[in-house]
Amino acid sequence: MNGGETLDFEIRRNPQPVAAAERSALLANPGFGRIFTDHMVTVRYAEGKGWYDARVEPRGPIAMDPATAVLHYAQEIFEGLKAYRTADGGVSMFRPEANAARFRSSAQRLAMAPVPERLFIDSLEALIRVDRDWVPTDPEGSLYLRPFQYASEVFLGVKPSSEYLFLIIASPVGSYFKGGVQPVKVWVSRDYTRAAPGGTGAAKCGGNYAASLVAQAEAMEHGCDQVVFLDAVERKYVEELGGMNVFYVFDDGSITTPPLTGSILPGITRESVLRLAADRGHAVREEQYSYEQWRADAASGRLREAFACGTAAVVTPIGTVRDGDGEFTVGSGEAGEATMALREQLVAIQRGTAPDPHGWVHRV
Ligand code: PMP
Repeated sequence: MNGGETLDFEIRRNPQPVAAAERSALLANPGFGRIFTDHMVTVRYAEGKGWYDARVEPRGPIAMDPATAVLHYAQEIFEGLKAYRTADGGVSMFRPEANAARFRSSAQRLAMAPVPERLFIDSLEALIRVDRDWVPTDPEGSLYLRPFQYASEVFLGVKPSSEYLFLIIASPVGSYFKGGVQPVKVWVSRDYTRAAPGGTGAAKCGGNYAASLVAQAEAMEHGCDQVVFLDAVERKYVEELGGMNVFYVFDDGSITTPPLTGSILPGITRESVLRLAADRGHAVREEQYSYEQWRADAASGRLREAFACGTAAVVTPIGTVRDGDGEFTVGSGEAGEATMALREQLVAIQRGTAPDPHGWVHRV
């Protein structure tokens, strides 16, 4: 199966969509991940048959046999990307081709049938066309798109499923930072790691997140917003946050981020920031950086800024770093100049208010 195949979608309109007035009220303050649009995409797969029955249908519960494989062995992957309302009233997605490619590589790691790239993109477009009125017009809002795929075969044997369901749901979201960008506090986990060499760290599978929740809960108990994971072998090098990649800005203007060694998620925001930082004249390096060095460089002033990046919050300054022994601040503890310049440029490209030199914006 290559990436170029697609299907015709059957469109089954929701006979009871949310009324326009109620939708406007929901869009005024959507929060994150609790409000959903009227429709969803479903596409089925069976061994020997391939992908079939592509539909846009009313969003609703999915009936599942209790022996459905995903409920037992967690063969499940997902993606996350956003659609934005553009100044001319249109809608565009940011780099959906990159999500399509990552979804396929996640599928391969989890021994699942990969969704062809064209089918992935066509599915996103089909859903947005039907639920276009759910894309917020508020300049801070966006429509979060959640494609996912799970093992739907009814069988308790431990083996790759012979059947899959691919779905996309969509959720309008508001500004991640209410009242301006705030630096986050991060908690460095000493007890838990996220992914080991040879494991599934580079795949976006639900199991990775299930395994990270206890560390995330520990971070919250210690007054932090996000957990920082160290490498699983030496517990020395910083890998990434629970749901974001990490970057460092030094006094010579250079910018670094950990390399893609297989145990961290290859973030699409990460890759975009690397390119924009190079365009802006920063020396950029992908290299390992230890937690001890982070502390030492923050103390000496060599490290000026640190930030996290991902689809949800785009670029987020890291102000304070805490572990079981104490804490330190990065720079002034406030949002740094290079961090904010990168953030503003990326947000402007995504929303269509700045030139798009790399062709990242995909109009629907
Ligand atoms: N790392 C992890 C563990 C994540 O869950 C995410 C969010 N997908 C990221 C990094 C950032 O990836 P992206 O920029 O593609 O959203």
